[in-house]
Amino acid sequence: MMDLAGRNVLVVGLARTGAATAEFLLRRDARVTITESKSRKDLGPEAAAWVRRGVTLETGGHSLAAFLRADLIIPSPGVPRHPEFAAAIARGIPVWSEIELAAQYLKGTIIGITGTNGKSTTTTLLHRILKDAGRKSFLAGNIGTPLISFVDKSRDDHLYVTEISSFQLEYIHAFRAPLVLILNLSGNHLDWHDSMEDYAAAKAKLLFAQKAGDTAVLNREDARIWAWKDAALSDVHGFSGKRPVRRGAFIRDGWVVVRDSGERRILPVSEIKLPGLHNRENVLAATVAARMLDVAPSRIRASVRGFRGLEHRLEQVATIRGVSFVNDSKATTVDAVLKALASFTRPVILILGGKDKGSDFRPLRRAVRRRVKSVVLIGAATDKIRGALAGTVPLLEARTYPEVVRTAFAAASPGDIVLLAPACTSWDMFRDFEERGRVFKSEVRRLAARPKREKG
Ligand code: ADP
Repeated sequence: MMDLAGRNVLVVGLARTGAATAEFLLRRDARVTITESKSRKDLGPEAAAWVRRGVTLETGGHSLAAFLRADLIIPSPGVPRHPEFAAAIARGIPVWSEIELAAQYLKGTIIGITGTNGKSTTTTLLHRILKDAGRKSFLAGNIGTPLISFVDKSRDDHLYVTEISSFQLEYIHAFRAPLVLILNLSGNHLDWHDSMEDYAAAKAKLLFAQKAGDTAVLNREDARIWAWKDAALSDVHGFSGKRPVRRGAFIRDGWVVVRDSGERRILPVSEIKLPGLHNRENVLAATVAARMLDVAPSRIRASVRGFRGLEHRLEQVATIRGVSFVNDSKATTVDAVLKALASFTRPVILILGGKDKGSDFRPLRRAVRRRVKSVVLIGAATDKIRGALAGTVPLLEARTYPEVVRTAFAAASPGDIVLLAPACTSWDMFRDFEERGRVFKSEVRRLAARPKREKG
């Protein structure tokens, strides 16, 4: 464990995790520098508050000097790979993600959940199951509170169900979670990671940090992930919506079944309220993990039955004159869009676009031909998506969200679904996917409130 008192620690990026990290470091008497790309003006009164507390604050960009002066560097998740990082690493200065730092001081058990899609849903569900079963569970990481904020109150019997992104895994060294879940892998953040191999390698680190006696829950249907099991030291359990696994969770005769030394029926699939086959996989993964933590099947069943999913993930908004509106603003990857489309049998008017994160949109072509009546494009990635989908279905265009909703509604007939599943981030027009989802929903409600006009 590093003694932080008097050390020069550089925190790169001042969003939620960066702020929580700086708080922690100040409590440990470290000499904290924060470097942030936003200007002091954009930071507002927060900037002065940090300075008053003794932090050296560098705003409007990052200086090499700040990096090279540090004894330790903590990048916030998603901070670009500035060349300063490489320069610092070349000098032997350690670069740790916030979870690496937190894990060195945290008491209790970390349950690490990663994957391209389904992390938040699975993390939340597993946390609910554990809470409902009376365990001291906490929702941590990207979706909850940064792990570092729990350190000072942590206890040995605490369970930290932690959503972990590939950014955070990039800079781990000794970090180890005795229970990990790796959900799936598809192209994501390829603008940040050098390649798919690099992105996959970041996810694999969570598994290969484990020791004998630890447990990993891996997706049996993801060939790349499943191949890792041979090299893992931990006990590997699988989950599959398609076939029985030797150890882990699967579906048989309409029931979710967990097999370990024996076989246990957990709940009928019909009791899962979340839409789509992909959500079944999330339930299977959370179920195996809950069994590994000794939660009784009857309790798992009750929790899963009561779980209706998260806002902005295939969220049913309203039905207006026979047209259903679904908000999947969190679908920022091509894979998530494919999963969303596969969840519906009715024709879809699909809203796509936003800020591209280096995705290849052509894999959408087949599903768009099959399930989509027309696409409404919006935002910075419009031209790229238009090129990728040319010749499939009508590609309409809108410039604002009110216009998107009106255009999609005009293209829909009763019985159709208008689906916001943009395959892009929201950062060209919004602060985050939550804001985008909320704007979409309020436009839909405004439409619902308008005087009736016959549809069809
Ligand atoms: P994450 O935290 O990994 O982004 P979420 O649970 O927030 O995951 O879901 C993100 C998006 O991916 C949503 O659009 C959701 O409908 C979709 N999704 C959820 N689970 C899966 C899965 N297992 N496979 C593919 N897509 C999924």
